Amino acid sequence: MSPARPDSDSKPKVGVYVCHCGINIAAKVDIADTVAFASQLPHVTAAKEYKFMCSDPGQDIIQKDLRSGLIDRVVVASCSPLMHEPTFRRAMLEGGGNPFLFQMANIREHVSWVTKEKAAGTAKARALIAAAVERVVLHQPLQKTSVPVHPDVLVVGGGIAGIHAALTIADAGKKVYLVEREPTIGGHMAKFDKTFPTLDCSACILTPKMSAVRSHPNITLWSHSEVTGVDGYVGNFKVKVTRKARYIDEEKCVGCLECIEACVFKKGKTDDEFNLGLVKRKPVYVPFPQATPLVAVIDPKSCIEFKTHKCPKNCVEVCEPKAIDFTQTDRTEEINVGAVVLATGFKAFDARRISRYGYGKYPGVYTSLEVERLVNAAGPTGGEIIMTNGEKPKAVGIVHCVGSRDEKTNRYCSRVCCMYSLKLAHLVKERTNAEVYNFYIDMRTPGKGYEEFYEKLLHENVHFIRGRVAEVSDWAMTAEEKGKLIIRVEDTLIGVVRRIPVDMIILSVGLEPQPDADDVRRLFNISCSREGWFLERHPKLAPVSTFTEGIFIAGACQGPKDIPDSVAQAGAAAAEALALIDRGRVEIEPNTAYVTDELCSGCHTCSNICPYSAIVFNEETEKASVNGALCKGCGTCVAACPSGALQQNLFTDEQIFQEIKGVVSYV
Ligand SMILES: Cc1cc2nc3c(=O)[nH]c(=O)nc-3n(C[C@H](O)[C@H](O)[C@H](O)COP(=O)(O)OP(=O)(O)OC[C@H]3O[C@@H](n4cnc5c(N)ncnc54)[C@H](O)[C@@H]3O)c2cc1C
Ligand code: SF4
Ligand code: SF4
Repeated sequence: MSPARPDSDSKPKVGVYVCHCGINIAAKVDIADTVAFASQLPHVTAAKEYKFMCSDPGQDIIQKDLRSGLIDRVVVASCSPLMHEPTFRRAMLEGGGNPFLFQMANIREHVSWVTKEKAAGTAKARALIAAAVERVVLHQPLQKTSVPVHPDVLVVGGGIAGIHAALTIADAGKKVYLVEREPTIGGHMAKFDKTFPTLDCSACILTPKMSAVRSHPNITLWSHSEVTGVDGYVGNFKVKVTRKARYIDEEKCVGCLECIEACVFKKGKTDDEFNLGLVKRKPVYVPFPQATPLVAVIDPKSCIEFKTHKCPKNCVEVCEPKAIDFTQTDRTEEINVGAVVLATGFKAFDARRISRYGYGKYPGVYTSLEVERLVNAAGPTGGEIIMTNGEKPKAVGIVHCVGSRDEKTNRYCSRVCCMYSLKLAHLVKERTNAEVYNFYIDMRTPGKGYEEFYEKLLHENVHFIRGRVAEVSDWAMTAEEKGKLIIRVEDTLIGVVRRIPVDMIILSVGLEPQPDADDVRRLFNISCSREGWFLERHPKLAPVSTFTEGIFIAGACQGPKDIPDSVAQAGAAAAEALALIDRGRVEIEPNTAYVTDELCSGCHTCSNICPYSAIVFNEETEKASVNGALCKGCGTCVAACPSGALQQNLFTDEQIFQEIKGVVSYV
């Protein structure tokens, strides 16, 4: 619906408030000059300055002027609206004004931070303020609406972050759907034997949380499932979850694992994904003994019955509860939730991408994740470090920063690799008494107890060589190097190129965004950083919120992090989701599109183009209209409408042209 036109008799009274932002703005903009300029602009009835407009005394200045009737519209010339538009709108409301008779001129990011000369900065600040004044004069007094919030929450990803978020929300009495792509929850942490820096047993601390998820009355766990559709808006998301066929009825399976034993395959023939292909699994399997849910899954790609329909089906024979069902198909569940926590984690860097380290070429070269499985008591070698040639290594090289801090792969630091390299160095030393060499660029151990862990390693006869490894080869130059893998590295502490012969190499692979992070981002309409990590609304002040209200992020999907940080962030995301749910209603911003009926020609352009399905088409009247709750104010339809029937509150053509006029009149 179109907003009411302003009362033609009432003359706008605009207050302009210029912020110094300490010296952030004041160093590059002549504040006194700018205020004097603003005071001369048409409709301006007050022009003032203050050191920090966002502070309480700064807001008081605006509120006093509003209450006294000196002004009824406000322009604040300060920083980015992303940061403080809500602050000033709230101040206007508390001061008795309409919060939408407000405009910000960004003279920090757009002026002082990008301008060298004060004269140029001042001139640009003048133009932006003039534009804001021209625009705010045309603003309408808008009202927010509110809608009820659905009390259930969706958590996507069942690693430690998703598990912790789900349990926190469920413990607060809310219903949670936990959707995990793999047949089991646990994520990467389930693969580890010990965790740095305390070396406590990963399974001992993770398994109780996994079983708490399984038995929690408020948690519906859907493993082997993926979100395939999301509609709606904050407080009212409609989500489609595809539950992939397991070919085993979850309700009936008791987790006795008799089917695996009885399977016609006496030995596994397919790479075991959970053990990173270090061993083989059968077509019917559970990923690991503590898998949650402990329900077997049949892989149709390797199961003979799916290929030939001629398997004697020993598994069906032995399954007492008759849980095996080869006719099962994928099915889709539809749920309504008020908030979503995304905790989809990371993927380890593919070591094949750096061919000079010989991964995939030399059997003695392993990735850190593979070695996590080797040192694990429940892993393929029962915790013994035995290489594919059946031998225990006598010398082991650990290469740090593989796929991190490297212009050719990822420039960022993966944050956990130094620490897990130290952990693996300790475990390898403990289990094999081998000579262990760490090759590092520089050691990054900034967490609680991390530096102490490094110190401990320095006293465990582990070697530390500072320098990026140039290459790994098997070209022996001496008798000592024969049959070994040779690490060539410049030891930058002594300025010498060294050749270190070893039996085993562990590549400390970095952390990367999940390969489908961009698809998940699109599904939930959030943003990703340049590297592909889910983007937080503000790196310091809103680290678990996204730019889409009601969608929160936790754990390594937001960027590389260790377990303590993932858990802390999951707790924060859960708290944000709970706060939203507990409010009961959410306010909808009024910057939505609206149709002027008389101009609408019924061409359907808008309804076909709206990315949020916010446009309703009335077949009888042949007119479009906008559902304000669904409209996100992206403006796509406004730009596309060939009849000019669509306009958007706070972004009408008139307002935008007037703003442009304001800028060009004063440059
Ligand atoms: C070799 C290695 C050793 C490490 N050792 C330690 C250590 O000792 N101590 C420590 O503090 N940290 C350690 N870390 C870091 C640790 O792994 C992470 O901090 C932790 O796993 C992050 O948890 P997460 O839940 O965010 O992500 P993940 O553990 O990656 O879990 C994400 C989950 O989401 C699921 N998922 C992904 N996409 C979807 C989707 N679209 N739909 C549904 N589900 C999805 C995944 O299947 C997975 O179960 C180590 C990392 C590595 C690589
Ligand atoms: S499918 Fe049947 S045999 Fe296999 S684990 Fe489940 S209950 Fe046991
Ligand atoms: S502005 Fe138009 S295209 Fe964008 S969400 Fe609203 S109705 Fe849809």
